[in-house]
Amino acid sequence: MTFDSRNLHADNQAFLARRGQDGLCVGGEWRAAASGESFATIDPATGREIGRIARAGAADVDQAVAAARAALPGWSATTPVERARILWKVADLIETHIDALAELETLDQGKPLFVGRWAEIPGAVNQFRFFAGQAMAIEGSTLESSINYQPQGKQVRTWTVREPVGVVAAIVPWNSPLVLTAMKLAPALAAGCTVVLKPAEDTSLTALRLVELMLEAGVPAGVINVVTGFGAETGAVLAAHPGVDKIAFTGSTATGRAVLDAAKTNFKRVTLELGGKSPAIVLPDADLSLAIPGVANAIFFNSGQVCIAGSRLYVHRSVHDQVVEGVAAYARSLKLGHGLAPDTQMGPVVSARHAERVEGYLGRARRDGATMLTGGERTGEAGTFITPTVVTGVRPDMEIVREEVFGPVVVVQPFDEVDEVIASANDSEYGLAASVWTESLSTAHRMTSAIRAGTVWINCHAMYDASLAIGGIKQSGWGRDSGRQALDNYLEWKTVCAVV
Ligand code: NAD
Repeated sequence: MTFDSRNLHADNQAFLARRGQDGLCVGGEWRAAASGESFATIDPATGREIGRIARAGAADVDQAVAAARAALPGWSATTPVERARILWKVADLIETHIDALAELETLDQGKPLFVGRWAEIPGAVNQFRFFAGQAMAIEGSTLESSINYQPQGKQVRTWTVREPVGVVAAIVPWNSPLVLTAMKLAPALAAGCTVVLKPAEDTSLTALRLVELMLEAGVPAGVINVVTGFGAETGAVLAAHPGVDKIAFTGSTATGRAVLDAAKTNFKRVTLELGGKSPAIVLPDADLSLAIPGVANAIFFNSGQVCIAGSRLYVHRSVHDQVVEGVAAYARSLKLGHGLAPDTQMGPVVSARHAERVEGYLGRARRDGATMLTGGERTGEAGTFITPTVVTGVRPDMEIVREEVFGPVVVVQPFDEVDEVIASANDSEYGLAASVWTESLSTAHRMTSAIRAGTVWINCHAMYDASLAIGGIKQSGWGRDSGRQALDNYLEWKTVCAVV
């Protein structure tokens, strides 16, 4: 299937015709980069150009930050119910346009249409609805103080209030663009912050469409601004900008480090949602009819380009061969194709650059002595398809076991004892997520306590909801997105002490 803009949803034909090189939104106005430069955004399933994206430079970032700063007093003074009303309207508009948004996401990112249509974009809707509610539930506290040196006849009263952090730089990756963007924008706006959004260079389209819908929903000019461009220029300038109060970043651990350095300039608040190498652990008493497709889907969903993907599979030796054969059969059965083709189960990886990165990991794993039980190849005449891959015969110290590949690649290792697999699961620089597959309540409880990760699932993997916090420990990052906890990312505490 090839990309032909005439086959697209009418919404998307109109969007692609009007938005692209003039795709920076600054203070409510759409315009081109000051330099006039743009770059191509590519359909990864065909390698063909979908459209042009504005390449923002330092002058554009300056103006976007100034617009966000100018809009801050007005937005932070709106009532919670007014912010909630607008956020709910954003959710309604996303829902109204869900078919077109899912198509646009597939075209730009490569994922099968059903992933965006039924999982990720409904997830984005729920983020805006959840944080519409949270906008009206911001609480400070009153405190009984022990201060005893007040003037005669007076009393001391102390309380805390929550205030928006200020101007937020939201920097997001390309794997699930719209929902990850919603995870930043919804709580930031609910808290009364204003935002400069920097989408990933490979997948800017749904972010631009979302910003259009946000303006239509009544988000005031300057409250949401968007600067498209490359990480090393647009992203780096934004992260270091002295007018930014907080960076909300999702991306790789390496970039997270660069962002942290940039934040030092003015001690910006920082939250970092970074990489993972999450274990999926199948115990001998697991219900294999659930566990086999469950652990396979945990890695092959979205071509493995999921921060919480179950990329390390540990299987008890008594069921090892059965599980490995089942996962390999599942991998072989997956239909690869253009995400817009109705029978596609797995799409390409996001770009040629990323396909080369994944191939590099596979080549080095082979060189180190690993076995590709299935997959391990680039495939297709066009596009950036990698066959779903099951790697066996690995040692714990191998790169393929330790580093995040961010592709459809699972490494399998057998184990004998629960203590042994807990130690293996924790033997990682990452601590984002894990899943445990067992029918034993006691084992499940023991393992959820012992595994060091931000989320542990029992008999499922990668289930999430707007009410649930997502994030990691160790080198998987700082702070949490989603859930009640995410609102705190965008609020400061102010203590008030009064003699009355
Ligand atoms: P990336 O780090 O390359 O890029 C992420 C974003 O940062 C992009 O917008 C990019 O343009 C920008 N960027 C790059 N260099 C920058 C710099 N020096 N300063 C400021 N911004 C810069 O990540 P990616 O390849 O787009 O995304 C994949 C990574 O994201 C994986 O590691 C994945 O695990 C992680 N991720 C984490 C979560 C989570 O919730 N923990 C969710 C999704 C993805």
